[in-house]
Amino acid sequence: MDHQPKFFENLSGTGKAIGVLTSGGDAQGMNAAVRAVVRMGIYVKAKVYFVYEGYQGMVDGGDNIVEVSWESVSSILQVGGTVIGSARCKSFRTREGRLQAAYNLVQRGITNLCVIGGDGSLTGANLFREEWSGLLEELAQKGKIDEEAVKKYAYLNIVGMVGSIDNDFCGTDMTIGTDSALHRIIEVVDAIMTTAQSHQRTFVLEVMGRHCGYLALVSALACGADWVFIPEYPPEEGWEDSMCVKLSENRARKKRLNIIIVAEGAIDCHNKPITSEKVKDLVVQRLGFDTRVTILGHVQRGGTPSAFDRILASRMGVEAVLALLEATPATPACVVSLSGNQAVRLPLMECVQMTQEVQKAMDEGRFVEAVRLRGRSFENNLNTYKLLSQKKPDAELPKTNFNVAVLNVGAPAAGMNAAVRAAVRVGITEGHKMFAVIDGFEGFARGKIKEISWGDVGGWTGQGGSILGTKRTLPAKYLEKIADQMRTNGINALMVIGGFETCDRIKQSASGTKRRVFIIETMGGYCGYLANMGALAAGADAAYIFEEQFDIRELQANVEHLTEKMKTSIQRGLVLRNENCNENYTTDFIYQLYSEEGKGVFDCRKNVLGHMQQGGAPSPFDRNFGTKISAKAMQWISKKLKETYRKGKVFANTDDSVCLLGMRRRNLVFQPVAELKTETDFVHRIPKEQWWLKLRPLMKILAKYKTSYDVSDSGQLEHVAMHSPKEAETGAI
Ligand code: ADP
Repeated sequence: MDHQPKFFENLSGTGKAIGVLTSGGDAQGMNAAVRAVVRMGIYVKAKVYFVYEGYQGMVDGGDNIVEVSWESVSSILQVGGTVIGSARCKSFRTREGRLQAAYNLVQRGITNLCVIGGDGSLTGANLFREEWSGLLEELAQKGKIDEEAVKKYAYLNIVGMVGSIDNDFCGTDMTIGTDSALHRIIEVVDAIMTTAQSHQRTFVLEVMGRHCGYLALVSALACGADWVFIPEYPPEEGWEDSMCVKLSENRARKKRLNIIIVAEGAIDCHNKPITSEKVKDLVVQRLGFDTRVTILGHVQRGGTPSAFDRILASRMGVEAVLALLEATPATPACVVSLSGNQAVRLPLMECVQMTQEVQKAMDEGRFVEAVRLRGRSFENNLNTYKLLSQKKPDAELPKTNFNVAVLNVGAPAAGMNAAVRAAVRVGITEGHKMFAVIDGFEGFARGKIKEISWGDVGGWTGQGGSILGTKRTLPAKYLEKIADQMRTNGINALMVIGGFETCDRIKQSASGTKRRVFIIETMGGYCGYLANMGALAAGADAAYIFEEQFDIRELQANVEHLTEKMKTSIQRGLVLRNENCNENYTTDFIYQLYSEEGKGVFDCRKNVLGHMQQGGAPSPFDRNFGTKISAKAMQWISKKLKETYRKGKVFANTDDSVCLLGMRRRNLVFQPVAELKTETDFVHRIPKEQWWLKLRPLMKILAKYKTSYDVSDSGQLEHVAMHSPKEAETGAI
């Protein structure tokens, strides 16, 4: 910890009123943000109001602005769209409209506003704030409010959260809704792939993004598309020829399916639109391939929000309330957002201006600039895509004479194959000979190693499990045999993909049944990450984890809490328990305890999620994270090999020749394994310090427990670094 935790007790919302609204295009996860604002607001004893139908409701007033209770936001966490409605509102663009809106707010004593929307909505909010005192003066002059009200409500605090599936806002790594939209796109691509494998087909897929290519680019990365068109990166002159050459080469390599992804707003270098129809016609005319166009449209906005969006929006909502409580007349309006895995506050107008700069750069044909302005994360996505999508001809590749082997270890995890693919392709591009080891260290000891080519890893991004095969065996007992194999095959570097406990995929079904408590056991060994984050994403009442020991008093408090809850309109409970959280308080024990204590009030069901958590296709996030982190690791290996190469030998005798690459706070860091030893709890196979533990109180607050919130998750107002606003290179956590 590099700062003292600030405890929350000294921030009180007593006497304050907060209005929350959603505006502009809807996005999955907006409800989670609304819920968090309401509950955190009530937790700090503020009054919270829904403003229905965006700014329209604020202008119209009446029943559109209503005070809400804790229960008002029950069961909305998992619902897509926005339950409080969103609208475009012409009159809010006029001073007249804003005057009316100000009147409606003052009437209810609302001087804190939480706006969830895109850059348009946030610009409007900022303008409203700037005009606020003038608007109040005018209302007083017209005799609609008195001078006392002008004084009492003199300042309007504004905080924004970006809800937009396009991820088109500068200063944030991820906007609310983007991850869910990616899920929808990848579900469609996966579905198309299965039908298309039966035929030889080319699919042209149009995804949303009139001005921003994020969805298209990341989808292309996540499904290993053959070609992608985005507004920020128009193809070079003559792209028609190069694309057709690539497609026919793929066909010659017996690839049965081609996928081309087109962003709605894709353009060529003369600023002319490249439409999906145009691409299709080109493929049909030039190559005669059976080609189909799929336009995803509103499907991308639909469906339930992903776990990531729910957690993101919940964190943002809580942070937004804190920002409002801490705001002074001197603090500029801010947006809360995510940088790496940290919540931060950024000055709203700087972000809006920078977002507009991107568009301006594109309009003026300054595309390199546009990509740079989008931020490091976007740039990184684009570079990774370029690196992996097309193999350079052999003659153009460097030759290093290094042999690099890749292997998977530990439990299989969704995203591992994407990581292997990226490692192999980047390795080949860097000029190494790449080898794949089958079945982890055990396989390695037995000599299961072979050369692997660019084409061998085609289509691996979307596959679940570990194609190479993985074993949990530790290398210790095979060290000599492994060393022999390394010598025989002349392996200069090893890239190991895996970990102590890895698993993804966690699903809960929120049931409509009343008076029932679900007790769900999650995987993770001693690591409570899945239980904790799953609980946050599902709005659970408790999550039992090893890292935060609990006793009988805690269990009793939980039972009492649930008994109380059954008296409210929310008659449903959800409790997560990590598999190894406590030796004696087993899932069965907890189930029996709850069943007995809840007799006559609620009944219980238990469910052990088991291996389904490791199964299935990887999420878009895992595909990309696997891909990017692995590409980066391979580039690091190349650099190290070159640095330590002397007289025909690689000298790997320093601590930093064995590193772990991972995300720490806001950056990707290579950390010597020797150093990691001191930070690891080997008995339980977990790090001694777990960053996500600071999110524990958040879950409790949102489930109505009395707890103190250590605001260390919250970021102080940060200034946007104009040249690289996106601190984390990989996108979000
Ligand atoms: P988004 O927020 O998704 O970018 P819009 O640009 O359509 O969507 O904005 C949503 C609403 O925000 C508009 O209908 C309008 O009411 C308000 N708004 C947008 N820009 C401004 C502005 N410059 N001044 C005042 N209100 C604005």
